[in-house]
Amino acid sequence: MSQITKIKSIEHLTHDVLCVVLEKPQGLTYMPGQAVDIGLNKPDWSEKKNCFTFTSLPEEDIEFTIKTYPEHQGMTNELLSAKPGDEVLIYSPFGDIYFKGPGIFIAGGAGITPFIAILKKLEKQNQIDGNKLIFANKEKADIILEDHYHELLGKNFINVLSKEKIEGYEYGYISSELIKKYSEKQLKYYYLCGPPPMMKAVEEQLKALGITEEFIVKEGF
Ligand SMILES: Cc1cc2nc3c(=O)[nH]c(=O)nc-3n(C[C@H](O)[C@H](O)[C@H](O)COP(=O)(O)OP(=O)(O)OC[C@H]3O[C@@H](n4cnc5c(N)ncnc54)[C@H](O)[C@@H]3O)c2cc1C
Repeated sequence: MSQITKIKSIEHLTHDVLCVVLEKPQGLTYMPGQAVDIGLNKPDWSEKKNCFTFTSLPEEDIEFTIKTYPEHQGMTNELLSAKPGDEVLIYSPFGDIYFKGPGIFIAGGAGITPFIAILKKLEKQNQIDGNKLIFANKEKADIILEDHYHELLGKNFINVLSKEKIEGYEYGYISSELIKKYSEKQLKYYYLCGPPPMMKAVEEQLKALGITEEFIVKEGF
């Protein structure tokens, strides 16, 4: 079962990432970190579904942060020409990624989205202190909400760039050495979200560091 809602605003956050705000349908509830299938309510599109994570808090208008892939000719390409007032179908929220306790959030690209919502909630509850965000991207221009997280997390915001060397940014891919460097005893949980190859590699690194399953909270994109 889906509900119909409307786009309120749509704008670029980075060169290829959109921030899409929708009116919140009555009765829709979800937890920060959860995702939902959406469809576009227009000819040839209503049967197609794509999954996106809420980057809003449940009490706000719905917000999605969406990386676009024009070359796929799929829904994210279609959203590049969407405008306020366009109708969207929204299905039932799902997903198991939620805040269990202080930890290190490890994101690859659009894998930041569940953490945007979770960190927003922690900020609102004054519980942000100590949590760290390790964010892997190709280049600085790909970093979503960079200024915001520098301000919010300070030295606890660690950027890892694989295709650009910049002073003050880690270079290469996330490695077990890098995770160890930023680990702290009181940060028990490792929250992980990103594309499948990155998830696989980081999970193996966490296991090699002796982190057990119960302290790894993950969602694959
Ligand atoms: C739980 C969950 C939550 C997610 N949340 C978000 C989120 O908040 N933000 C976000 O940006 N993304 C998120 N994603 C990823 C998102 O669902 C899509 O996978 C992504 O947006 C791809 O969109 P698309 O336009 O390529 O459309 P799709 O419909 O996925 O692809 C269209 C066509 O492109 C082709 N294609 C697909 N992949 C490739 C490829 N790698 N190379 C070449 N062709 C390809 C396919 O043949 C397909 O028919 C989430 C995924 C999951 C599972």
